[in-house]
Amino acid sequence: SAPLSIVRGAGEAAEHGILMRTGEAFQGYRLVDTVVLDKTGTLTEGRPVVREIEVFSGSEAELVALAAAAEASSEHPLAQAVVRAAFARGAVPPEVTAFEASPGKGVTARIADGEVLVGSPAFLEGQGIDLSPARARIAALEEAGRTVVVVGRNGRALGLLALDDRLRADAAQAVAALRKEGLRTVLLTGDNERAARRIAAEAGIDEVHAGVLPDGKAETVRRLQAAGPVAMVGDGINDAPALMQANVGVAMGGGTDIAIEAADIIILSNRLAALPLARGISRRSYAKML
Ligand code: ADP
Ligand code: MG
Repeated sequence: SAPLSIVRGAGEAAEHGILMRTGEAFQGYRLVDTVVLDKTGTLTEGRPVVREIEVFSGSEAELVALAAAAEASSEHPLAQAVVRAAFARGAVPPEVTAFEASPGKGVTARIADGEVLVGSPAFLEGQGIDLSPARARIAALEEAGRTVVVVGRNGRALGLLALDDRLRADAAQAVAALRKEGLRTVLLTGDNERAARRIAAEAGIDEVHAGVLPDGKAETVRRLQAAGPVAMVGDGINDAPALMQANVGVAMGGGTDIAIEAADIIILSNRLAALPLARGISRRSYAKML
C-alpha cells in the first residue's frame, strides 16, 4: 500500500479539487523544471466566441450557413462557436453528404453543389486557395489575438470568421507562481503564432511554440526534455500523446476523456492555481517519506 505521506498528500490534493493518481504525480512533479501549457481549453476557457465576420464574396448569410454545415459534425471548440454564431444569425445550413476533419487544421464537407473548407489560413492555402488579398487583414486580426478561420468553397475563399477565447481568470497568477519557483513556462498550441504570443503575454509566459500540428506536440515536449523533466498541461485529444511523453501529464477536468486517461494529475476544479499547489503537495509528501 502507499506510504502514509502519499495518502495524506492525495487527501490534501482532493480538498483542492486535484486528483493526483500516479507515483509520478508525487515523485516526478516536484522535480520538473519546465511546465508546458496548451492554449485552448487549458490557458483559456475553451469557449471561443465569433467576434467578427468578413465576407469576400457572396453574402454573410450564405457564409455562416456554409461554415455551420461544415462544422456541425466537428467536436472542436472553434466549430461549436461557428455553429452557435450561425444559428444566432438564423442561418439554414445546407445538407452535408460527407465530412472529414483534419486535426490541427480544419474540416472539409461535401454539399450538393461542391466542397466547403473551414479552417486555418494555412490549411486553406495548403488546399490551393489563394488568400493573398486577405493576408494583411488576417495578420491584423491575429495580431489582436484573434483566431482566424477561413471559409472556402470550390477552390475560392468566401470570407472569414475571427474568434477569441478568454484567458482563465487565474492564469496569470498561476504562471507567476510557477515562475517564482524557478520553473520555465512554455505555451504550446496549434493556433497561429500572433494570437499565441498575445495570449502568452497576457499570461506572463515568454516562450511560445505555435502552429504545432497534433503530431508535433509530443515531439516538442521530447525536445524540451533535453533540458530536464517536463510537465505538460492539456485538455484535448490532440494533447494526449504529449501528456504521455511528458514526465508528468496534467489534464484539465473539463477536458476530453482521452486527455484525462493519459494524465498523472487531473485538475477537477479546472483552476490553474492547482499547478503550483500540486507541486507543493508533491514536494512535501515526498520529503515526509524520507
Ligand atoms: P490548440 O492547440 O489551440 O488546441 P488545434 O490544434 O486544435 O488548437 O487547432 C489548431 C488550429 O487549426 C486552430 O487554431 C484552427 O485554426 C484550426 N482548426 C482546427 N480544427 C478546426 C475546426 N474544426 N474548424 C476550424 N478551424 C480548425
Ligand atoms: Mg486545448
